[in-house]
Amino acid sequence: MTHVVTLNAGSSSLKFGLFSLQADDPVAICTGAVDRIGGSGASITAISADGKALGADVPQGIADHRDALTQVLDLIVRQFPDAHITAVGHRIVHGGPHHDRPILLTPDNLQALDELSPFAPLHQPYNLDGVRAAMQRFPDAAQVACFDTAFHRSHPWVNDTFALPTEYYDMGVRRYGFHGLSYEYISDHLARTAPLLYGGRVIVGHLGNGASMCGMIHGRSVGSSMGFTAIDGLPMGTRCGQLDPGVVLYLMDQKGMSVDEITDLLYCKSGLLGLSGLSSDMRTLEQADTGRARQAISYFNFRARRELGALAAVLGGLDAVVFTGGIGENSALVRERICVNMGWMGIELDHDANTDHARIISTPLSRVQVMVIPTNEELVIARAAARFVYPHMYQSLLDHAGSDAEGKSA
Ligand code: ADP
Repeated sequence: MTHVVTLNAGSSSLKFGLFSLQADDPVAICTGAVDRIGGSGASITAISADGKALGADVPQGIADHRDALTQVLDLIVRQFPDAHITAVGHRIVHGGPHHDRPILLTPDNLQALDELSPFAPLHQPYNLDGVRAAMQRFPDAAQVACFDTAFHRSHPWVNDTFALPTEYYDMGVRRYGFHGLSYEYISDHLARTAPLLYGGRVIVGHLGNGASMCGMIHGRSVGSSMGFTAIDGLPMGTRCGQLDPGVVLYLMDQKGMSVDEITDLLYCKSGLLGLSGLSSDMRTLEQADTGRARQAISYFNFRARRELGALAAVLGGLDAVVFTGGIGENSALVRERICVNMGWMGIELDHDANTDHARIISTPLSRVQVMVIPTNEELVIARAAARFVYPHMYQSLLDHAGSDAEGKSA
């Protein structure tokens, strides 16, 4: 049987999966993560489909991403000696303005993706390091890039641009949107399980450490809360979300802060952590009984409600809301606060269903169906990688990516 490895390389972590290619859909046989790459106390956690822990402590530490990948692949080969790896699927944060679907990676297009690193300096270089390490380790396997931005290339121009002189748009200063693999999973899931809703107007809240919202019509993205970078939009664990650019000018000009200091502030010290002064973790804040923790949660919910209303206006109405991501899937409190008093928009939450984390958490009479759907970005990557090896298998029900990014017009 043939297999696909999925890789999602962050700045100090590497998430991975091993999928066997079976007739109807790739099946995960192992998922895991390497944490604290380059630091002390590194560990590999891995769990097989039947719940067996396969991870290992790495007392000698993990020097870099190449080392991490070597250790992960050693673990896979040790635990699954019969695995025949024919493709590696990579999560790549930025595909630029033109990639609206996964691509087969070659040394040439890899270099072109390197040139997008200034757009996502905290993610793209690590993603591409993972690709290079996998190419070296599996020279005969197909290496497939799955872009977080691709799902949003269907945005109309008004949702793709800033009101800057147009030469900035031409140089790539655009609203790219992110979390595209998660949104693609939800869109595909709706097509399979709720085709009527899929065909309508849906807002998906991917609420995790990173958080964003996406408005879809007929399964395609028409608007997203994230913009040029993954700090825009909703507040997140440590990222500030929407911010008046005048604040940045003030910090530079009047407070003498450097680019590095402002980057650290906006990406690492803001959001839930900055507001609460306690933690970036929603579960910790819900359990903490402090005024600042409550304020942080209130701000998170307030911004999510605002974005929900804004995206509903963009969609011209609403048929369904889907919550996903660690907070969206697990926090009944956040879902309740976001949906409370939204009857005017057709949302009526079923309190008990919400508390029970049911799949449908709106009342039967609610005009808008509210759902909780666990996301699965790894499966989206595995499907995409598998399609390059076996083009006739795993054709998604959908072709989300049919948009022509060049075709945008004012
Ligand atoms: P990432 O963006 O890193 O993938 P996740 O999607 O795993 O993040 O989401 C992590 C967030 O989900 C954290 O803020 C965590 O506290 C929150 N979370 C997980 N489980 C719960 C829970 N039971 N209640 C509230 N928040 C939760």
